[in-house]
Amino acid sequence: MDTNQHCCPNCAGQQIALKKMLYYQGTSDHSGSYSGSFGGYISGGHWMGGTQGGGYSGINQTRLASLLSPPRRKSTSLIRVNSILGRIIYGWCYLGIIILVGKISPIISFVVAGIGVFKYLNASRYNTTVYPKLYRQWEKEWFCLSCGSAWTYE
Ligand SMILES: [Zn+2]
Repeated sequence: MDTNQHCCPNCAGQQIALKKMLYYQGTSDHSGSYSGSFGGYISGGHWMGGTQGGGYSGINQTRLASLLSPPRRKSTSLIRVNSILGRIIYGWCYLGIIILVGKISPIISFVVAGIGVFKYLNASRYNTTVYPKLYRQWEKEWFCLSCGSAWTYE
């Protein structure tokens, strides 16, 4: 905790905040109740490009929130299936295709199955080893509303 804690290391601007705080503000509050102060931050900077009005609209909030959004987990399926039932059905379909193809060419079915297993294991490994680190990093990251740079104090 030194004196640099309260300004941006890039532009020395003081309009800084934890990324996650900005993100949660942007995603939970779409009515723009803090439009006054926040609009000032945005219009003072150049990081978003384009024209900036005085207000802080819902669209801009969403855009800011998506810019600051946390890292995402990788889907452990070849396609994005959100429900557990969907994953089971998809799994059975996938297995069905492999069996079907296997009747024509066992080698192709082996390759298709191999790719599926590889992708699944790769995504699982990412979610259990890489993702938690990225997420912890994101939680600690600060963001400058003047120049758009991000950093951590470590
Ligand atoms: Zn800055």
